[in-house]
Amino acid sequence: MKNPALSPAFCAANGIVMTGAEGRTLFFGMLHGSDTVLKTRIKKTYPENHCAFKELLPDEFNLKLSQLYAEETLYETTGNSMDTGDNRASIIDHIADDAPVVNLLNSIFLEALSKRASDIHIESGRAESIIRYRIDGLLIESGTITRDRAIAVSARLKILANLNVLENRRPQDGHIDVETDAYSLDVRISIIPTIWGESIVLRLLARSDLPFTLDSLGFSGKYKKHLDDILRASSGLVLVTGPTGSGKTTTLAAILKELNIKSTKIISIEDPVEYRLEGITQIQVSEELELTFDALLRRIFRQDPDIIMIGEIRDIETAELAVRAALTGHLVFATLHTNNALEAVYRLQNMGIPPYMVSAVLRTVIAQRLIRKICPVCNTKGCVECSHTGYVGRTALAEFIPVTVELSDLIAGGTHIEKLRMYLQKKKFRTLYDDADEKAASGITTKAEIQRELGVRQ
Ligand SMILES: [Zn+2]
Repeated sequence: MKNPALSPAFCAANGIVMTGAEGRTLFFGMLHGSDTVLKTRIKKTYPENHCAFKELLPDEFNLKLSQLYAEETLYETTGNSMDTGDNRASIIDHIADDAPVVNLLNSIFLEALSKRASDIHIESGRAESIIRYRIDGLLIESGTITRDRAIAVSARLKILANLNVLENRRPQDGHIDVETDAYSLDVRISIIPTIWGESIVLRLLARSDLPFTLDSLGFSGKYKKHLDDILRASSGLVLVTGPTGSGKTTTLAAILKELNIKSTKIISIEDPVEYRLEGITQIQVSEELELTFDALLRRIFRQDPDIIMIGEIRDIETAELAVRAALTGHLVFATLHTNNALEAVYRLQNMGIPPYMVSAVLRTVIAQRLIRKICPVCNTKGCVECSHTGYVGRTALAEFIPVTVELSDLIAGGTHIEKLRMYLQKKKFRTLYDDADEKAASGITTKAEIQRELGVRQ
């Protein structure tokens, strides 16, 4: 079914892809089913055949196209080679605009998207560069490209992001907007020189509405009451904790979406803004413009918010402002980097918030992780659907500490963390490990996956 007349580049540029053949009939998938000019053009390309057209959803189209690219373009090499002479800049410029490089980068984006990747890693090795995608939290190798092509891709990214193309000794950060008919991406770029060349990491943020609801994140039914309490609260501080990539932002976005009713003003300060939420005032932190979390927080009080979301509490200034907002009748959500929920109570104190203040504002602390779900097609054996990992998609593991009157008193009294832990144990506190065990027992995930994510039970 391969036909040289329809190159991947043509397919990408025109939003069409051949999906199959049966006898003399050729089947095509189109992004825009009403494009009669394109249909006519295709029919003229295949005068001997009957051509059947079908409109594809952007996701379906991306998948087909990335498969096509994977077959034909991704690993082919070009005749370009680098020159180290004085005209290096113009050569790089030239290479970076070269159609194969543009196509290669597009195909990498498309393949990453079709595999639901959150990040793309392009790492220089001794002879070639490895491309890996982070899928459901883990890196999966996708293939390699030659050194020359990696240099060209790097140059193209630098040009798109307005970075210094000739700089290859210092790290550079930037971002680009990728807009096509099929998708819209905010891509964060980090380039760091290594001993073999460069390590390039692209963080993909799809500009889309939040694709989840609070119900679909996978929180155990045992936590429903805690979540309902949070949604009914009118003031106080709710903390969501966990390491990077544990789904904190997604949980908060889903909560805000539920709270987003016409009679409330919700302001969120984020770095970066990961989901676009209609009806919520989302503000992007910018170190460059000195719009840090605390600087923005100081400003937003005049915006008369009811609910405030702080992407992350990193310093005492932000912590103090968050507490102040919660004390003055706002419902405040924030994330913190701690291993478990109990540590969050103490992190605020270590930052310099007095225990009585913590006790006065703290309403609920959530600790969460994401664990991969068993692939429903192959049941962990590995198949095409799960990129041979045995897992597809992730679900939330969590522990909730609702700050009751009794607990609040203990916190206010400066109780030692071990004593508080014992108190919670006595109250049959359900930990991340308990939650994980239940998810393994019900066949959602595996013991091995839990151990990978949580380590050995503490
Ligand atoms: Zn599978």
